[in-house]
Amino acid sequence: MIRNYIQGEWRASSATEQVRVINPATGDELGLTPLSPALEVDQAAQAAARAFPSWRRTPVTERVQFLFKLKSQLEVHFDDISRTITLECGKTLGESRGEMRRAIENVEVACGMPTLIQGYNSEDIAAGIDEMMVRQPLGVCAIIAPFNFPGMIPFWFLPYAIACGNTVVMKPSERVPLTMQKVMALLDTLSLPAGVVNLVNGGRDVVNAILDHPVIRAVSFVGSSAVARHVYARGAANGKRCQCQGGAKNPVVVLPDADFASASDVIADSAFGCAGQRCLATSLAITVGDAGSAFSQVIQDKARTRVTGYGLDDGVQMGPVITPESRARIESLIDKAVSDGARPVVDGRRANIPGYHGNFVKPTVLEGLAYASEVTSTEIFGPVLSIHHVDDIDAAIALVNSGEYGNQACLFTGSGAYARKFRHEAEVGNIGINVAVAAPMAFFPFSGARGSFFGDLHGQGRDAVEFFTQEKVVVERWPSGSFRRF
Ligand code: NAD
Repeated sequence: MIRNYIQGEWRASSATEQVRVINPATGDELGLTPLSPALEVDQAAQAAARAFPSWRRTPVTERVQFLFKLKSQLEVHFDDISRTITLECGKTLGESRGEMRRAIENVEVACGMPTLIQGYNSEDIAAGIDEMMVRQPLGVCAIIAPFNFPGMIPFWFLPYAIACGNTVVMKPSERVPLTMQKVMALLDTLSLPAGVVNLVNGGRDVVNAILDHPVIRAVSFVGSSAVARHVYARGAANGKRCQCQGGAKNPVVVLPDADFASASDVIADSAFGCAGQRCLATSLAITVGDAGSAFSQVIQDKARTRVTGYGLDDGVQMGPVITPESRARIESLIDKAVSDGARPVVDGRRANIPGYHGNFVKPTVLEGLAYASEVTSTEIFGPVLSIHHVDDIDAAIALVNSGEYGNQACLFTGSGAYARKFRHEAEVGNIGINVAVAAPMAFFPFSGARGSFFGDLHGQGRDAVEFFTQEKVVVERWPSGSFRRF
């Protein structure tokens, strides 16, 4: 049974509706996510509000001790949690392990909060007057996560939020609630004061109750752009600080001087890894000049030979997509691309994986899709790569900048000058140079721009510290007359 965790205890939800949690590879039911009512968001928010005054007074050096313990518990239970991610989300065990490693890195970075949270000061800004900036926690903060990284994405926010002295209400995706059940069970063993971290399961109604709740001061959201926009607008209208990371349609540009062998390896991994369900997945390959046919041949080979199957089985390189609806949507977008003139040079539709009845779509490569086709600009969120050819890098950069999204763009080249030009001109938040999944380490912001991000400060690193703290400036004068003789 999937339960909420409120005020330091596990509670069954009073929800009247549930969502079935299904293993996307086998179709087995793993549990039922309660669609918790607004009342339970209120209970979690009130518990977090009660815990806040004493948690914020707890010295930062003591707050981070819980993170050191959490890191050690996550290491002990690393394989079990990774396996849970594969069970509910479908990615391969190797991908789940990689995800948990990234989650733990965020805990490690937040352990440096005694230094990270420091402000700054100036003595004698005027005669005898000093000024300082201190960072203080905000209060109750909410975290709303998507399905595709059930372990990592909550950790872009959680360790920073609590190390800064805030308390938290977390809502995982209703499709993959089991990973956070395991993480909360570990937190429960750490003697963290009751109410510092709370978990409420559910869907849209929980999100809206968070956005409308008067004691919640800040919202960190990751998911599709349509919902990110909604969360940003409604949260801001209710006076909350919001950071909302949205969807993507990520291009790579391949120049004729690229190393095709290594480029095709990493681009295939970016396009088809996690079954294309990464916000940093490559979905458009733009080849420049002579790069076209050579690149197309090698990437087709990589797509054809990628082993698709159950993520817990040895040798499997790509798992299923999350739901049957998702598979149907991906296949219908490929159908649409074909009816818009694309050639499916590798066709992954209606995949058959012997022994399994999951939501499998095999790697698909499209050639000749008109740039004007709606599919070119739609986030497919599946293992589909479309290849486009242009004459020069300016045309390639114009394509990179023409879409709605701005999550990531990558360039493959042997030329530093082209690399610099690309870095300078591509209007996206994450740039890869000879790298096709430019996932920032935990001590850098997980960036994103234009239609892929709504807000100012991103998750992870120093951005997270700034997001989870309020700056306060103090100007002080102590007249010398206030010296007393002792
Ligand atoms: P989603 O937008 O459907 O759901 C995200 C969260 O919002 C979930 O917790 C869900 O319960 C809630 N939600 C869904 N519909 C809602 C509604 N109408 N009103 C209020 N809340 C709602 O996203 P998803 O399918 O879980 O995740 C995939 C998406 O997330 C993709 O678009 C992907 O690109 C994006 N993503 C972005 C990043 C990033 O860093 N930019 C990272 C990972 C995933």
